Amino acid sequence: MARVFNFYAGPATLPLPVLEAAQADLVDYRGSGLSLIETSHRSNDYDEVHASAQRLIRELLGVPDGYSVLFLGGGATMQFGMIPMNLMTTGRSDLVLSGVWAQKALDDAKKYGTVSVVYDGSDTKFSTLPAASSVASTRDSSYLHITSNETIDGIQWKEFPTVDAPLVADMSSDILSRPVPVERFGLIYAGAQKNLGPAGVTIVIIRDDLLERSPADLPIYLRYPTHAKKDSLYNTPPVFPIYIVNLVLQWIVDNGGLAGIAERNRRKADALYQAIADSDGFYRSPVDPAVRSDMNVVFRLPDEEQEKKFVAGAAERGMIGLKGHRSVGGVRASIYNAMPEAGVETLIAYMNEFHR
Ligand SMILES: *Cc1c(COP(=O)(O)O)cnc(C)c1O
Repeated sequence: MARVFNFYAGPATLPLPVLEAAQADLVDYRGSGLSLIETSHRSNDYDEVHASAQRLIRELLGVPDGYSVLFLGGGATMQFGMIPMNLMTTGRSDLVLSGVWAQKALDDAKKYGTVSVVYDGSDTKFSTLPAASSVASTRDSSYLHITSNETIDGIQWKEFPTVDAPLVADMSSDILSRPVPVERFGLIYAGAQKNLGPAGVTIVIIRDDLLERSPADLPIYLRYPTHAKKDSLYNTPPVFPIYIVNLVLQWIVDNGGLAGIAERNRRKADALYQAIADSDGFYRSPVDPAVRSDMNVVFRLPDEEQEKKFVAGAAERGMIGLKGHRSVGGVRASIYNAMPEAGVETLIAYMNEFHR
């Protein structure tokens, strides 16, 4: 079987054992005579999967008591609207404008009140982040929003700010790639298709006292308490994505848990940034070394013509998805949890060959 090394930013590569387990289960789920995606979401078979996925997220991330773990539809993008709708009760919030995704969160939040941009990275072309200790929330702010990893710009918070208002984080592209102090956040959300599974389910981890803020006149689905009260079974949840997420979570457990995964991610990112540094300026990272992402390694070549040749040559060698986002250009290697170290080694060998 020929599997390529998949460097796409999302939907992204999944662990092979997960895909194989899903394949084996698909037609006849563990002797039930039907597949899980044809089964009632109120069945025991599905219930086990749902409960297991919630439990593993809690265990792996160390989610404290007093938080709910929700499975929602609509992607991380729906959270750009749901968060202000549910939480911006003072009519004010804060946001760190760190990149393309933070901008989208800002665009929606502004529809529900006044958003103070407490840091604006646009004048540095989103190549750096503020020091965590310099970030503060403003008066009467309902919450402060950050993006833990800017998938397109290739920057990542290494330490998180401590602020007075509840801290809200879009962790779509680095959730479960490293340990995080969940107790310092009011709300964490992530679309699954970068690091956790297929598109279709969004994980929301919310501190329970924040549930009480939700205005009663919002549509039922768009209220967090609806899902918290019904354990994310108010309506039909995205059964198949949640099933795959559960397999991915088990795979993380089998691969050393979050500490083991984080260590491997570190090694992969370090190796790639080192290869860039060792290229005598042929490859160049546009990003502040202090905040370079371990998930999305963005780099440039001397000109766009060579970048095109580089990406095409990589594809011929079984490495796909390396083209940078259309808004920033260049090359981007997304090396999420499921990218094997062999994929990064193969990429580095090709970078050296291309340079020569
Ligand atoms: C991909 C991505 C999103 C959008 O996710 P959807 O599930 O497609 O809505 C939001 N934020 C970040 C950081 C992302 O990487």
